[in-house]
Amino acid sequence: MSGRLPETVQWDRLTEGGETLRGAIAIRGMTRLAGCLLDDEGDVDVELEFGIDAQKVRYLRGHLRTTLNLVCQRCLQPLSHPLDIDICLGLLLSEDEVEGLPGVYDPYVLERRTAELAVIVEDELMLALPLIPTHDTAGCRIDAAYAATTVTATPPDSGTRRPFAGLDALLKGKPG
Ligand SMILES: [Zn+2]
Repeated sequence: MSGRLPETVQWDRLTEGGETLRGAIAIRGMTRLAGCLLDDEGDVDVELEFGIDAQKVRYLRGHLRTTLNLVCQRCLQPLSHPLDIDICLGLLLSEDEVEGLPGVYDPYVLERRTAELAVIVEDELMLALPLIPTHDTAGCRIDAAYAATTVTATPPDSGTRRPFAGLDALLKGKPG
């Protein structure tokens, strides 16, 4: 199944059917995520595989790929942040089930048998956001500005200062 993704899915049916969904979800609808971004342009390319494992865990495995427009916290300029993350969620109906979930899964409690794909994707992207987004050193304007300041701020006569050098020369040059 690919192309246009349904907004809401019956995840119990998808897991029973072992279905895989592929497509794009607009960032525009993800208001919590968009609040952390410079703008809400773009899509998230998703591949979501639903299934039930040998231990009867209903899971959602997959791949999320997008580029988010963040703001560098050092120079406050736009920062393009590519994300390419794998997810492996154990789908649960209550918090009580979290304890029994095998460690390979991250618990995801839904409480209902329906799920909004965009909400799950948004949650996972929020977790993957850098805490303090910054350019790497070479790409950041603040670093470049700082480097320039440190160079010019170095006093040109920082070597040995000889306040009486002139006097010395004067004395030596004195005839007689
Ligand atoms: Zn920067």
